[in-house]
Amino acid sequence: MAEEDKGFNIDKEKNFSEWFTEIVSYAELADQRYRLKGFIVHMPNAAITEKRMYADMESSLETHGHKPARFPSLIPEHYFAKEAEHIENFAPNVFWVTKGGTDDEFEEKLAMRPTSETAMYDTYSQWIRSHRDLPLKIYQSCQVWRYETKHTRPFLRDREFHWIEAHDVFATAEEAWNQVKEDMEMTYDVLRDKWGLPIIFFHRPDWDKFAGGQHSFAADALMPDKKVLQLPSTHFYGQNFAKSYNIKFLDENEKEKYAFQTTFGPAISRIYAALISVHGDNKGLRLPFGLAPTQVVIVPILKADADSTTLLQECYDLQTQLRELDYRTEVDDSDKRPGSKYYYWEARGTPLRIEIGSKELEKHELTIARRDNGKKETIKQKDLETYIEKAVPEILKTLKDQTMKWFEGNTHEATDFEELGKQLEKGGFVKVNFCSREKDGLKCADKIGEAYHAEVRGTKFIEFGKEERVANGAKCIGCGKEAKHVMYVAKAY
Ligand SMILES: [Zn+2]
Repeated sequence: MAEEDKGFNIDKEKNFSEWFTEIVSYAELADQRYRLKGFIVHMPNAAITEKRMYADMESSLETHGHKPARFPSLIPEHYFAKEAEHIENFAPNVFWVTKGGTDDEFEEKLAMRPTSETAMYDTYSQWIRSHRDLPLKIYQSCQVWRYETKHTRPFLRDREFHWIEAHDVFATAEEAWNQVKEDMEMTYDVLRDKWGLPIIFFHRPDWDKFAGGQHSFAADALMPDKKVLQLPSTHFYGQNFAKSYNIKFLDENEKEKYAFQTTFGPAISRIYAALISVHGDNKGLRLPFGLAPTQVVIVPILKADADSTTLLQECYDLQTQLRELDYRTEVDDSDKRPGSKYYYWEARGTPLRIEIGSKELEKHELTIARRDNGKKETIKQKDLETYIEKAVPEILKTLKDQTMKWFEGNTHEATDFEELGKQLEKGGFVKVNFCSREKDGLKCADKIGEAYHAEVRGTKFIEFGKEERVANGAKCIGCGKEAKHVMYVAKAY
């Protein structure tokens, strides 16, 4: 007998940081022994899920009229320098390539893309001539690099991360605003409805918007330690970048105009960190069926004294049958005890486990256990396909209902500064009255940051031109002046 696996058992709510660190290695998600800070190996158990996540998001983008492209990963410095605010903000986090081969020092250093505005827009200015070239909706799935000086953590904050960036160009501001809205809808469709991940979109205050843009809207998720994590964001650039990169078109009246632009950036590896954290439990991962690296595991219940050949063959046949239906299926024919095998696959988040012993074999039955709710039942072998088809949406519903309920219970309110501190101790979001989303508000945001290490995340997005109403006579929680907004404050990653 192989060494017995005691299983994974860490209280996620109480010790989330330990839970996360341990599950990454226990479930073989990342190998962190690569000797370069902030660079990790995404192992198959993570890469399979991330690949499905890419596919879901790319499919949504293409349904909404985007086309894929691949731009170079190295950006000449003079491309990068065209938008002043953008380079000022990104320069401290760029990896630079300065040399080729053994001797060739480059005259101009090359940035490894931290994001691709500056790589794409010079080309866009050559592609776009007329209003008939618009809208232009392009996305690329790629890695980007940022020289993070903060503490790195696998998937959550690495120096190399995996994302999608969509860069769209329009003739009018109205079309660009509609794109921002569509980006938010795609995020809800995929993250919340397909992956069961609750989020809220916030209109970020001015001091926290994307460098070079005019407005930023970002989805915040809540991690099990009740700190928020920023997930996809969408940005309205107006004509800022178009002016820096000379993206112009001739309108119907042959008049030359600058274009309007938006970007949308779902960081797949970061969303993956949120996904495993939010759905996981004390036994390890739980995953929606569509995203699980192994969707079905078959465990033969072998008796030491009996001939196992027929039973094992039955398991392999079943594996073939399920693989032909495109279900990612494995037979666990290792020599561990069944209990150890259960722990092993539970920790990896395998949604369905099939057990077959000699008794089941005789009656053409099998026992099937669900990871999402722990329920177990015995069914006829011929009913397996129907069972799986029915279970897939139920598994997602269990995960989604649990996390939505938890998420919704974590928004609090505070009316004075001291109360804000107390509410922040509970974790989650705290709604407060606030003076300004422009630079005047920054000193109140800084005051909150210094006192409580928390951030002003913005106003909750309802629709353009509409936000939560401030009560008559309400005062800003920071400065006591008249409040103009209901803002959300939270401790953040
Ligand atoms: Zn204020």
